[in-house]
Amino acid sequence: MDTTVTIEVAALAEEAAILAAIDRAFGWFAEVERRCSRFDPTSELSLLSNTREQPVPVSPLLFHVLDLALAIAETSGGAFDPTVGAAMEARGFDRNFRTGEHHRSAAKAIAASYRDVILDAASTSVTLQKPLVLDLGAIAKGFAMDLAGRELAAFENSAINAGGDILVRGHNAAGQPWSIGVRHPREPGALLRTITVRDAAVCTSGDYERPADAGGHHILDPGTGRSPDDVVSATVIAPAAAVADGLATAAFVLGAQAGLDLLFREGVDGLIVTRSLAEFATPGFAALA
Ligand code: AMP
Ligand code: MG
Repeated sequence: MDTTVTIEVAALAEEAAILAAIDRAFGWFAEVERRCSRFDPTSELSLLSNTREQPVPVSPLLFHVLDLALAIAETSGGAFDPTVGAAMEARGFDRNFRTGEHHRSAAKAIAASYRDVILDAASTSVTLQKPLVLDLGAIAKGFAMDLAGRELAAFENSAINAGGDILVRGHNAAGQPWSIGVRHPREPGALLRTITVRDAAVCTSGDYERPADAGGHHILDPGTGRSPDDVVSATVIAPAAAVADGLATAAFVLGAQAGLDLLFREGVDGLIVTRSLAEFATPGFAALA
């Protein structure tokens, strides 16, 4: 996933059992990438993107990620849209970080949206009604974190850090609540806020993460086809990392006010920082700081 993942476990258990669980937890990052990567022409996601107007049976894993992606698309009024793949390719985000190879999908996308992705739970199949390129980059890492977290469920205390997106359970090795820094969006290495949480995920979308060659960055407003520039970072705290990851991207695109409205509607906490470094936090977020 082009990021560094670290896993910490603090538990009174056999070390071998802990290490085996950590191995299985790491395995989910590889598995989610294998199934959900837009950059790998042989991934399940790429094969799905190449087929349209007929139901394609998919794995339960891919089905669940798509299901959540469509729910977030719906609740954000399309600000979050897992069909941004073609627009991302057009902006130069087409390189497999592992092999360095450029990968353009075969599907010649026309105006399409999440509404053209039809899921059928009974047959675990997906129908794409138009040529489009699926992109689960805004949510797949969170999903992998949740699957990894399940492998650690037997231990009281754990933390998964995937490139600054965090999932914690219990407390740290010193018996204190996990303390999580929210990065300053304009001062590398500096923290904007520090919060303490237990049993929660904290995910951030920031404009500093991946600049685009042609200006802008890796988050797109599907409405305009451009990178939004009102918000510079959006952080969401939620019980599940996939939800925090997805809603952070959605809030980023919606902007400070509509983004906060979304977080209220979904019953989660968060912090949205604008270009002028004005901070918009839910009351629950402010209480954790
Ligand atoms: P994140 O860093 O979690 O905000 O995810 C950003 C990634 O999600 C990008 O690299 C794209 O792959 C994808 N993406 C960009 N814009 C959107 C959007 N509006 N809705 C859904 N996914 C997006
Ligand atoms: Mg995200």
